[in-house]
Amino acid sequence: MAHMLIIGGGLAGGTAAQTLREEGFDGDVTIVAAENHPPYQRPPLSKGYLGGKEGSDAVILHSAPWYAEHGIQLIAGVAATGLDVAAHAVDLADGSRLEYDAVLLATGAQPRMVPLPGHNLPGVMTLRRLDDSDRLASELRGGGRRLVVIGAGWIGMEVAATARELGNEVAILERDAVPLAAALGSRMGEVFARLHREHGVDLRTSVGVERIIGGRQAEGVVVGGEVIPADMVLVGVGAAPDTALAEAAGLETLNGVLTDASLRTSAPDVFAAGDVANAFHPVLQRHLRSEHWANALNAGKVAARSMLGQPASFDDIPYFYTDQYDLGMELSGYAPLMTDAEVVVRGDLQRREFVAFWMDQGRVVAGMNVNVWDVNDTVQQLIRSGERIDPARLSDPGLPLEDLLS
Ligand SMILES: Cc1cc2nc3c(=O)[nH]c(=O)nc-3n(C[C@H](O)[C@H](O)[C@H](O)COP(=O)(O)OP(=O)(O)OC[C@H]3O[C@@H](n4cnc5c(N)ncnc54)[C@H](O)[C@@H]3O)c2cc1C
Repeated sequence: MAHMLIIGGGLAGGTAAQTLREEGFDGDVTIVAAENHPPYQRPPLSKGYLGGKEGSDAVILHSAPWYAEHGIQLIAGVAATGLDVAAHAVDLADGSRLEYDAVLLATGAQPRMVPLPGHNLPGVMTLRRLDDSDRLASELRGGGRRLVVIGAGWIGMEVAATARELGNEVAILERDAVPLAAALGSRMGEVFARLHREHGVDLRTSVGVERIIGGRQAEGVVVGGEVIPADMVLVGVGAAPDTALAEAAGLETLNGVLTDASLRTSAPDVFAAGDVANAFHPVLQRHLRSEHWANALNAGKVAARSMLGQPASFDDIPYFYTDQYDLGMELSGYAPLMTDAEVVVRGDLQRREFVAFWMDQGRVVAGMNVNVWDVNDTVQQLIRSGERIDPARLSDPGLPLEDLLS
């Protein structure tokens, strides 16, 4: 009987296993997950779950019995240590060896740590895993703590918002002049800077962190000779794709595991999806690696179909969302095309109710709706159409967005 093997118990791996069954595959399916949890999704770890508004059911995709009921073998708490592409086999940390007909690498990404003096002190942490979120929650839920966040990226900003809502003091230290400027540009980054400052965050930009100080525990972060006191330090400076298995097996990697549009890697019967995959995007005609929830979800489905030998191609427009305080945002678009694009705004920036469009040579390449809902499908249609659109019409809130679609 054919055996489909999935390495990684995140959203991509969990979704791929579910899709295999939904597609009617009745052979063997195994998930090998290094963490001691059934497959889970991460967005709530910095938001609702961290803040106590959501329970673990918002995080875990399916409880353990679901896997047994669907004939999926879940090996949790055991890492895959080797991939032997010639033998079509994977070695596990418990000494066992699993042969496969097709294998999916869904190993995600690992958070980066800053190489600063003091980064090993207790109380300095990154946030990636459920266990990290539990640890952070145990510190922040009671309020009255001082949290210093190094790096004003999405995760740092989301944790800052949750920590403030729980009644903690928060400082964010950012190297760039504007938070999120690398992702959104300065004008849109400022929207988030203002949001946090209005909620009492001590957001410091253009600063270089010198070291983390403390004795038994982190007690502060030094910036420009000044000590910012801290009970907890969260390092949020991005993540690197977890390509260890793929590299050791000799697969082609470059900022992730390289795949074609069907998520097939350079090795026979080996596929990759989610944060770890740098997949060829058929519309963009270049490789694209996305570290987003929707990418893991939808690529997991496509990878499963490819593993079954079905024709499948992953051509989604990258989609991302965030929730911070009373701001909800969705962003669809192609990050590589946003850098030099002109930003056109429809709505009210000050009230944080608007849609921003990134225009490249008159065409919409990305769109971000902030506290405006039910428009993201249309934003995606505008991007997909590839048509030139008059910026004056785009920015006119009196003109329904749908009317811009010809
Ligand atoms: C705190 C947080 C908040 C986020 N919020 C948002 C959000 O609001 N919106 C959004 O769009 N995206 C968000 N993201 C990003 C999104 O969660 C990721 O893109 C998504 O988790 C990627 O899923 P994945 O399955 O590819 O990888 P992962 O979720 O990282 O899962 C990979 C799993 O593989 C395991 N693994 C690695 N190596 C091995 C091995 N050798 N053997 C066995 N198992 C292995 C890892 O332990 C891990 O559990 C957030 C991420 C984090 C960390």
